Amino acid sequence: MTCQEIAEFLLAYLERELPEPQRDVFQAHLDECPACVTFLRTYESTIRLGKAACRDCPEATKAKVPDALIQAILAARTTGHEQPQNETSDDS
Ligand SMILES: [Zn+2]
Repeated sequence: MTCQEIAEFLLAYLERELPEPQRDVFQAHLDECPACVTFLRTYESTIRLGKAACRDCPEATKAKVPDALIQAILAARTTGHEQPQNETSDDS
């Protein structure tokens, strides 16, 4: 198993969804690759923080977050690009 594959299987591994034979291979790679262990730890804490932050959100909201975030970023980019230097909005 390569580091690339480790990255791909990381979520399945952390969610305990990886089949037993693959778990063993995954674990064997981690025993020999400190870089992947560090990556795993970082990934793990990121997931934990994400879950803690969204603990009270309903499942539907969680699923919608990434898409809403993308839309917000796209909208911000568009308005930021087209915004005039001096905004004169006196209501006279
Ligand atoms: Zn590795």
